[in-house]
Amino acid sequence: MVDVVIIGGGPAGSAMGSFLSMKGISNIIIEKEIHPRPHVGESMVTSSTRIFEEIGFLPTMEKEAFVHKFGASWHEPGGREFQIRFEEFPQEGIRQPYTYHVDRGKFDLLLFKNAQRLGSQTIQGVGVKQVLFEEDRAVGVRIRLGDQDVDIPAKMVVDASGRSTILGRQLNTKKNDPIFNQYAVHAWYENVARGEIPISEDYIHIYFLPVERGWAWQIPINEKITSMGIVVEREVFREFKGDMEAYFNTYVASNPALKKALEPATRVNEFKTEGDYSYSMSSFVGNGFLMVGDAARFVDPIFSSGVSIALYSAKFAAETIETALKANNVSEEMLMPYEKKLRGGVSVWYEFIRLYYKLLPLFTHFIQSKKYRLEILRLLQGEVFERSEVDILDAMRRYIETVEKTENHIFKKQLSSIPLDEIPETILASSQPTPH
Ligand SMILES: Cc1cc2nc3c(=O)[nH]c(=O)nc-3n(C[C@H](O)[C@H](O)[C@H](O)COP(=O)(O)OP(=O)(O)OC[C@H]3O[C@@H](n4cnc5c(N)ncnc54)[C@H](O)[C@@H]3O)c2cc1C
Repeated sequence: MVDVVIIGGGPAGSAMGSFLSMKGISNIIIEKEIHPRPHVGESMVTSSTRIFEEIGFLPTMEKEAFVHKFGASWHEPGGREFQIRFEEFPQEGIRQPYTYHVDRGKFDLLLFKNAQRLGSQTIQGVGVKQVLFEEDRAVGVRIRLGDQDVDIPAKMVVDASGRSTILGRQLNTKKNDPIFNQYAVHAWYENVARGEIPISEDYIHIYFLPVERGWAWQIPINEKITSMGIVVEREVFREFKGDMEAYFNTYVASNPALKKALEPATRVNEFKTEGDYSYSMSSFVGNGFLMVGDAARFVDPIFSSGVSIALYSAKFAAETIETALKANNVSEEMLMPYEKKLRGGVSVWYEFIRLYYKLLPLFTHFIQSKKYRLEILRLLQGEVFERSEVDILDAMRRYIETVEKTENHIFKKQLSSIPLDEIPETILASSQPTPH
């Protein structure tokens, strides 16, 4: 019997397989699609580099010449632009002052191959139908091969099925986020006017849009292609009367810098949409199973944190699984250290994102401030997993409180309706008993 069966071969599943194989833990990754397959989520944060190094994948990233991402740039509708460069805050032990923009089809295929190279068995083009339980313990998965159901037994099951959240749906532990209900429309374009910066040193460009929680991304995929996406509240999208092209162009026109970038451009593939992507499972672990990456939770892609969280959750999960298998005890209790660690990290991102959306000018104000710039940059790099390490979030809160209390504050009108105090229970802490 294999030690661990992994559902899904995206970044979380392939990193999971890689880490387990390096620890001598046998594993099989079952992927529903056949790589390469398209996927949203093309811009990384620098913390990913550390994981690439640990699983021997960094040379591949360099050899395949993915676009280097040296920083980020925010564009206000009024014309002002704010930039950060990762090199301003060097990461201990990392020699590269940049991360990557990727074609996810190619990136996910290479990461999947890396897991194979390190020893993961793999199956592609076959979806997992359900996780098998004996009493309340996961004992394997069921797949459909031809016209037959086949059961694959394992000592542990890892759900890395991304937003399919196969286990969360099976166990009914998925909770939609009470605040964020964003909707994204995106496509690839050729000939986007990407400005003065050569592609070898490019940034992600974020454009603020004049609707609550509205923004657009511009991510260079290669010399020719740029990924463009518009994100707004789902309601705002629903209320729009017109086709997708008209919708996209309306929001493009609402920020002059974005309009200018897209003026000479041609769309080269169909629009894709992404909705319902803010949720959390009430628990990330249970007897004989755990969830990694988007299968555990996902909030909002504004800071490009998704792939990094997927990779780190795999690393933390592999450490916990190793201990549990050595002790011959894969109970929920044994797996709980993983849940605590991951929740610590995603709660930091979640709070940061909420504060960001609460008062947009505060973010641009802080990244221009000598006092706070580096701390913001450190958060944006994605290596903080303890709330106690991020005083900057308290500083952001205090600033917002001052704006709320001060009549005629210049930022007062820009406070959004997001509540800051009621952080949903499912976000902060686990754990309720898992129903089966
Ligand atoms: C609009 C939007 C923009 C984003 N932008 C960014 C960004 O710029 N940067 C960033 O880092 N992140 C971004 N993200 C998030 C990023 O896409 C995800 O966080 C990341 O892909 C998570 O990796 P994963 O391996 O957990 O899931 P996935 O990458 O989704 O992989 C899951 C895999 O499981 C497979 N699968 C599903 N069901 C089954 C099944 N039943 N059986 C077998 N296999 C199955 C799927 O085919 C898939 O290959 C964005 C997300 C959205 C919605």
